[in-house]
Amino acid sequence: MNDLLKRHQAVIPDWVALYYRDPVEITRGEGRHVFDADGNRYLDFFGGILTTMTAHALPEVTRAVSEQAGRIIHSSTLYLNRPMVELAERIAALSGIPDARVFFTTSGTEANDTALLLATAHRRSNQILAMRNSYHGRSFSTVSITGNRAWSPTTLSPLQTLYVHGAVRTRGPYAHLSDAEFTAACVADLTDLLGHTGDVAALIAEPVQGVGGFTSPPDGLYAAFCDVLAARGALWIADEVQTGWGRTGEHFWGWQAHGASGPPDLLTFAKGIGNGMSIGGVVGRAEIMNGITANSISTFGGSPITMAAGLANLAYLLEHDLQGNARRVGGLLIERLRAATAGLSRVREVRGRGLMIGVELVRPGTDQADPEAAAAVLEAARAGGLLIGKGGGHDTSALRIAPPLTLTAAEAAEGADILEHALRSVC
Ligand code: PMP
Repeated sequence: MNDLLKRHQAVIPDWVALYYRDPVEITRGEGRHVFDADGNRYLDFFGGILTTMTAHALPEVTRAVSEQAGRIIHSSTLYLNRPMVELAERIAALSGIPDARVFFTTSGTEANDTALLLATAHRRSNQILAMRNSYHGRSFSTVSITGNRAWSPTTLSPLQTLYVHGAVRTRGPYAHLSDAEFTAACVADLTDLLGHTGDVAALIAEPVQGVGGFTSPPDGLYAAFCDVLAARGALWIADEVQTGWGRTGEHFWGWQAHGASGPPDLLTFAKGIGNGMSIGGVVGRAEIMNGITANSISTFGGSPITMAAGLANLAYLLEHDLQGNARRVGGLLIERLRAATAGLSRVREVRGRGLMIGVELVRPGTDQADPEAAAAVLEAARAGGLLIGKGGGHDTSALRIAPPLTLTAAEAAEGADILEHALRSVC
């Protein structure tokens, strides 16, 4: 066994899972590629959603970070912080939320935790609606709104969480319904649930489920939910940790596919906005954001160095229309993967929007998840020089593809070829 893996296992808890039988040590990145400690080069089709939204070692971000590091890295609280105010102004304007306020954290978990703090305080209720199969983080509060049991290591929550149907219909009784029938069934389920519940604080949902395997509800489902919720005063929290900043191609935010009821009351973001620097946050209506009166600050949330990265990264993203790139190149990649996998008995579907693409694997001739096949395809893709992710509900049977948003059409074609080869070797 490789020496670093032995040391990892001796000092890091067992529940920090690593990919691959022989885990990769990534030591360098460049554009859409990363290199391991042995100098092997991989096309990175997963890092875009993990951390590096735009490109590895993007010079504009590297320069902004090193300039800020050379100037000052001080507290983001207690004193005025120009990069934080500037990034907050940009995000408030982009959010579509009127009279918005922004609070920065250091992770998606802490962003959702803050949203729960604000929503429960605003509504004076600890009842939360979350989606089946969801993932919202690893803190004590966010594991308890995480419907995906594989990622929910405790049930001792102070929140009362009710899980709603709507995000997944790959299998089970909803699988054969049309979009309209599915939406109507889920709205009826929600209405029924609310009929047996006191005041609910909020519904939290990922517009496209990330860890859950890149599954999307029918467009408009959350707007239909919002009509039911708004009538009872409950809030809508969109967790855009994976779907924000144009990744889904058609929209800048994932909620816009459900936009009929307007923007969410609270929107949480994290992951890629700092292009690898740890930024998370919540943006929401002032009335809700200002709804707590005691002090509540985050020492590193809004740090000048992460804000400098965020400003440079966001400027690059907007100036280079990376949302448009996600739509165009993502569209090509989905088409190519659909054509390449047609007829493969283990490929149930290729789904997705923009550069957020899932490939669902099943046992041949059934609709049963096939986590072993997913793990084998990951290994085979790696051997071919491609890093991808995996996810899914209770079983990890979906491949997840989320490259940096600067992916070129040639790189998309190259990655699709490697993945096709990996799939054919397993399926
Ligand atoms: N929400 C969603 C939708 C996520 O995918 C994640 C991370 N996978 C989180 C929240 C938590 O973010 P973090 O790991 O930065 O705490």
